Formats: sequence, C-alpha cells, structure tokens
Amino acid sequence: MRLSGRAVAAAAAVVLVWLAAGCGGSSHQSTSHASDGPRTTSPRSTPSAGASNSASPAASPSPTGPPLAGVTVGIDPGHNGLNGTDPSYLNHLIWNGRQLETCDTTGTQTDAGYTEALFNFRVAMFLRADLLRDGAQVVMTRTTNAGVGPCVNRRAQIINHSHASVAIDIHADGGPASGRGFAVLEPIADGPNNQVVAASQQFGRDVRSALLTQTSMPVSTYDGMNGVVYRNDLAGLNLTRVPKILIECGNMRNATDAALLTSTRFQHQLARAFEAAILRFLHKS
Ligand SMILES: [Zn+2]
Repeated sequence: MRLSGRAVAAAAAVVLVWLAAGCGGSSHQSTSHASDGPRTTSPRSTPSAGASNSASPAASPSPTGPPLAGVTVGIDPGHNGLNGTDPSYLNHLIWNGRQLETCDTTGTQTDAGYTEALFNFRVAMFLRADLLRDGAQVVMTRTTNAGVGPCVNRRAQIINHSHASVAIDIHADGGPASGRGFAVLEPIADGPNNQVVAASQQFGRDVRSALLTQTSMPVSTYDGMNGVVYRNDLAGLNLTRVPKILIECGNMRNATDAALLTSTRFQHQLARAFEAAILRFLHKS
C-alpha cells in the first residue's frame, strides 16, 4: 500500500504507522546523513557523475566489450536500515514537485520482521554487481543499510546529477495480507519530469515484462491495473529528469510473497530481471 495522496497535513504524524501499514515512499533524499552520500562506481576506475548519457536511451551499441560500457544506471534502494531511529529527521517535510512530502519513511517489513529496507538494499546490491559486470557505471542513493535517509528529494537529485540513462527505485509493499504481487509505479507529467515520462513508461513495460517472464511473482492483485500504477505524489518520480520507475517487488505482508522476497535466490532473480529490462530499454539486448 502506498499512501496515495500523502497529504501534507497528515504526513508528519504517521511515519511509524507506515512501518506496519505500508511501504511508504518512493525514493527519498537529503544531505545531512552523511554516510549515505551518492556513489558512482565504474567497473574500471574513476567514477564520473557526468560521464554518461542524458535522459534518452543510450548511446550506440559497442561492437566489442561489455554491453553497458559508457552507460550510467541509477539505483535507489528505498528507505534505510536506521530510519526508525530519527523520526524528527524522517518526518521533516520536503517539496516533491507537486506537494510537501516527508523526507523518508521507515518502509514496511514481513510478519517475521524482515525489513523492506534490507530487502531493497540486497536486491540493489545484486543489481549493481550485475550492471558492473556488464560494464555500466552505477550510481547508488545509499551504499549501506545502516544509515538514515537520504530524503526522497535528495535521492532524485543524486540520480539526476549523474545523468543516468535509466534508473530504478527498488521497494516492496506492505499491502493487505491477502494481496499478492508486484506493481510498477510510473510518473505522471508535472513539469520537471515532462521529458522523461514516455521513456519511463517504456522502461516500466520492460520491467513488467521481465518480471513476468523471469520470476514467479504475479502482477499485484490489489494495486493498480495489470501491475501498473501511475503516481504523482512521489518525489522520486515527480522530480526525475532521467527515465525512472519505482518497483514494488511484492507484498511483504503476504506469506507467499514474503517467502519469495526474503529468499536470496529470489532477490538475485529479481536483480537479473531488472538487468534484462535495462538492457532491453537501452537496446542492448
Ligand atoms: Zn518502500
């Protein structure tokens, strides 16, 4: 469940409730929790935030060498492992392009206490490794699961500044216990993101297709339509200047989904599906 209409007035009071009730957030961002600064990693040497392409899918394929050489990809693992320790920071309001939104949320967890923040981070690290292997430069919005934040707007800025060719916000949902499945959250044009809405929707189709063909997770039975949800209340989508979607990989409150989501094998399978979607989106496969 994702707080549609995350209203300003209600925002400050409900973060800890979200831990129980839902995933909460897009990608979130801010500067003050320093250990989670942006990192760009290149398979070879020097990361360069400006080294890559702009908002449109990718440069010409290289006839030799790894398929993603010269491409920058942004990964935003939602939330952070210690978000619950600093509610005043977490609850401060940021501008998300259309309205005020809290800096970040705690995210959800399984009934057994496996946190969404850890899940998001593990899938992100598997994806990062796969992308590096294929020659990409990778920009992460956080590089540990032991910090707080950054806020959602800062996460969007980190990826925007990297000029990534494509980016993915990784989450899992906290929906009704009877509900299953993944949902691809896609941006709605709001000004800052106007130039990348169509490309983001294409990437969303690629992600949806890859998940259906390469994993056993079905489309959501309770969110959106056929696994797609359009959202205008999330900083990560409102503020993006690169093609981006937010994926809710499954429902942590559903026993069947939770068994998958907490499995290392399935986490790696998800990462491989995202990698395939990125390659397809960039016309590298
Ligand atoms: Zn989340």
